[in-house]
Amino acid sequence: MSEHWQIYADWNPWHGCTKISPGCKYCYVYRQDEMYGSELSSSECRKTGNFYLPIKKKRDKSWKIESGKIVFTCFTSDFLLKDADQWRPECWEMIKRRSDLWFFFFTKRIDRFMECIPDDWDDGYNNVIVGCTVENQEMADYRLPIFLSLPIKHKTIIVSPIITAVNLTSYLNETIEEVSVGGESGVNARPCNYDWILDIRNQCVEKEVPFRFHQTGAHFIKDGKMYRVQRCYQLSQAHKANIDYKIGSYLVPEKIKFEWKDSDYHD
Ligand code: SF4
Repeated sequence: MSEHWQIYADWNPWHGCTKISPGCKYCYVYRQDEMYGSELSSSECRKTGNFYLPIKKKRDKSWKIESGKIVFTCFTSDFLLKDADQWRPECWEMIKRRSDLWFFFFTKRIDRFMECIPDDWDDGYNNVIVGCTVENQEMADYRLPIFLSLPIKHKTIIVSPIITAVNLTSYLNETIEEVSVGGESGVNARPCNYDWILDIRNQCVEKEVPFRFHQTGAHFIKDGKMYRVQRCYQLSQAHKANIDYKIGSYLVPEKIKFEWKDSDYHD
């Protein structure tokens, strides 16, 4: 078994999402649903059979998701989606109960955050890591000032799928525990230029914010030349670039090499 499974778990309490900004154009969820011939529209959000996974136990009464894992939460939707407002309170209850796990969700709807938190959120649950996703300068300039103002204990910025150069300089400070950048996957993927990645890395180094290059995307431009990168190599090729910076310096306990599988990231 790869090390991957020793520290990560997936929890998708609901599935399906509505497109909200340019980064959603070739959404991973839609592509996967199409590939698997889903009968329901990807825009129709529905509860999954795994809704109660964090509090499920095995026959021997131990937790199905073992203590200490990072739980990728709601990766086939958006945790702050309006259509899921009725279900989220129960999720917060489970997240609170499993204070021995890290719950990590990404969102393009950070502007809904304050409407979505539980009454006892206060300055944030310690076991929740929120990734604010941006794909271009416009979305960075809209979402990141909101993100910076929010009471969240662990904040990361996810620039994915990166579709233009992005200047994050004014949003990088000691409250940001990581910036993670990746290109788009899929046959129609918009190109990802390595210069944009290196530029964001420089911005992070300047501000001493941890940086990760997590995925090349399907159409990767380096030194002016476009490369097609198969899905199965997009994570490992990014890792091979060996440009990550200070990963693991903060709370997010990334101490191992990534061995993520294809479905670990949606963009
Ligand atoms: S899952 Fe993410 S990328 Fe897909 S439509 Fe929702 S917000 Fe957009």
